[in-house]
Amino acid sequence: MSRLTPALFLDRDGVVNREIGYLYKSEQVQFIPGIFELCRSAQELNYKIIILTNQAGIGRELYTEADLHALMEWMTAQFEQERVKLNGYYYCPHHPEQAIGRYRIDCPDRKPRPGMLLHAARDHRIDLPKSLFVGDRCSDMQAGAAAGVGKLVLLAGTEVSTCEVGAHFTVVKTLEAVIGLMEGRFPRDNELLS
Ligand SMILES: [Mg+2]
Repeated sequence: MSRLTPALFLDRDGVVNREIGYLYKSEQVQFIPGIFELCRSAQELNYKIIILTNQAGIGRELYTEADLHALMEWMTAQFEQERVKLNGYYYCPHHPEQAIGRYRIDCPDRKPRPGMLLHAARDHRIDLPKSLFVGDRCSDMQAGAAAGVGKLVLLAGTEVSTCEVGAHFTVVKTLEAVIGLMEGRFPRDNELLS
């Protein structure tokens, strides 16, 4: 039996790429500054890198699962060019009210619920308490807390930093600050909001 490894879990929209709402074309992607450096640091520390993304746009029929996979293949190639191996990505196409047909379910994978994290942990043999989850929404922090992820980090900018999570999370202004957290250092004051 192989040992469990830690993971750097990343929300996609707002953490990997700029949040523009229902993004599905590679031409729309603008990577967030520092994302590749963060991932390279994570790899050096033997973290697996896994993206977790709510994609209710699929359920709303704004784009298809094939569009999502095509975009993620393109994104994986962009990361490879930056010497980063993405170990996996998980998505939830469902929405309890706004989705159509079979996608209209209250899915346990949709953040703030922890389903995607739990699937990833099982598939990739992840040590959740030693892992780190970077999101830009309270629902990311809530999902991470529910799954028992050890370090929760909210990248400021998309949502206010005063949400009810029921677990400690750190608010950072930049992805560079996350590198320090991963290494067990405390980020510099000018990288933190709280
Ligand atoms: Mg997001």
